Amino acid sequence: MDNCTIELDGPEVPILDGSALPFVRLFHAAGFERQDVPVIRLSISEPVEVSRDGRSVSFRPDGPGLTISYEIDFPHPVVGRQELTVAIRPEEYSTRIAPARTFGFARDVEALRARGLARGGSLHNAVVLDETGVLSGPLRFRDEFVRHKVLDLLGDLALLGAVLDGHIHARKAGHALHIEFARALAAASVGQPGGVESMPERKRAARR
Ligand SMILES: [Zn+2]
Repeated sequence: MDNCTIELDGPEVPILDGSALPFVRLFHAAGFERQDVPVIRLSISEPVEVSRDGRSVSFRPDGPGLTISYEIDFPHPVVGRQELTVAIRPEEYSTRIAPARTFGFARDVEALRARGLARGGSLHNAVVLDETGVLSGPLRFRDEFVRHKVLDLLGDLALLGAVLDGHIHARKAGHALHIEFARALAAASVGQPGGVESMPERKRAARR
């Protein structure tokens, strides 16, 4: 799905259960419509990489389709080292990635609350960890943490406004590095099929 209007009544997108699954269910309930404007596919012929302090996100051309490999290593008994490679297709996304919830530490939630943030934050909309375990009940997947990182990366790459072909490897990254990576991809896409110079066309397509 690459064309949809979402109306928000408030300053941020509601967190719901901390995953993308409620949105996927709503999209399926609303249904899909095939339109007569082609999807913009972004094919970049050169490798792209951003890295900092042992964290990295890299792209290599390998189409058609998008594959994401993600690796995390959190010094926590429930998380530890997790690695996942997934070909991003509607069925894989809906069943393996979308249900993975955001996660955080109870101590950080307390700190956010003290600043008036995350006021809706509870054990029902995140995987909440303490020093040794999970406070919020059973995990949806043993590797729910790395699956959620893939979800985060896909959301950040949506800023490109195009369907990307290739293989992405991310290592210990997060939103800040994802955004830097999306900017590097956009810069590398100039002159390539679906590149940023086709933005006017993209905006027209968005209004269709
Ligand atoms: Zn997230």
